[in-house]
Amino acid sequence: MKSLCVTSPNNLVIETRDLPVIKSSDEVLIKVKAGGICGSDMHIYHGSSPVATYPRVIGHEIAGEIIEIGKDVIDFAIGDHIVMDPVISCGTCYQCRIGRKNVCSKLKVRGVHIDGGYQEFLVLPQKNIYKIPLSLSWEEAIMIEPFTIAEQVCSRAEISKDDIVFVMGAGPVGLSILKMVKLYGATCFISDVFDYKLQIAKQYGADATINAKEIDVKDEILRLTDSNGATVVIDAVCSEKSFEQAISYVCSAGRVIPLGFNKNPSVISQLSITAREIDVRGSRLHNDKFPKVIDYFINGDLRIGDMITHRFSFTEINNAIAFIEDPEVYNGKVVLLFNE
Ligand code: MN
Repeated sequence: MKSLCVTSPNNLVIETRDLPVIKSSDEVLIKVKAGGICGSDMHIYHGSSPVATYPRVIGHEIAGEIIEIGKDVIDFAIGDHIVMDPVISCGTCYQCRIGRKNVCSKLKVRGVHIDGGYQEFLVLPQKNIYKIPLSLSWEEAIMIEPFTIAEQVCSRAEISKDDIVFVMGAGPVGLSILKMVKLYGATCFISDVFDYKLQIAKQYGADATINAKEIDVKDEILRLTDSNGATVVIDAVCSEKSFEQAISYVCSAGRVIPLGFNKNPSVISQLSITAREIDVRGSRLHNDKFPKVIDYFINGDLRIGDMITHRFSFTEINNAIAFIEDPEVYNGKVVLLFNE
């Protein structure tokens, strides 16, 4: 079978590997059907991921069909359509015991720390897959994992319909968080420096869009919130500066959710957090969010069809990467199809 392996930064090779085999009775063999390309895959490709190791078969947004099952697999059958949960946790450390397995002390993520799903066949334990209805298309199915990230953000921020949420950054992550925040019934403002992204945000239900290049963002947030600030600020820009700004946009007793993996320090005073009792809460991956997100997809709540803009055969991965990085073309989610 063919696997897409980043052998070292900026080298992505189509390797021929042996077909994986079921080794444990709780595993299933999957024919991979589609894989989404994520910003984090691009970081691993370029060597700018702070966590990935090489060589690595990338791909963590994966959907496929079960073609063989181990003898102790009871919840799945041959022919089932599934999505892969990339998060692997130990189940016994402090974090796992308190139900925070996405930050397990031995956390491994498929496609990051161990091989992921950009390969024609994949063996996975049944606890790392979720069944999806046959009515969902393969390309829709790969959008489930990105929305587990958005759902995790909303859960960390404890979003309710009374919140006034400000999402900084209208890239793929920011836009999916916007959709999720609107599903929760909250008010949502969003900023970016590109008008075409803000135009999409408007179509996705943003209550206000802010071009951070053109107007003073803090003034605008205060104007939109009766001078109080946003109750939740989500930093999907992830620069040193944006984290500092996020603290200045949030109201007293508000929550700030940073999403960045930036190692450089930001300058934030203790006073700005203590005096106003700000909660700063990181949000990483997802914690058991697949069932809820799959329900949203079954109900059509998120209307994700228009988020998928381009499709490539998986063997065209290097063309897909070049396309994503071409500043002249707009792309939303780019999907690899494994139909060969
Ligand atoms: Mn992703």
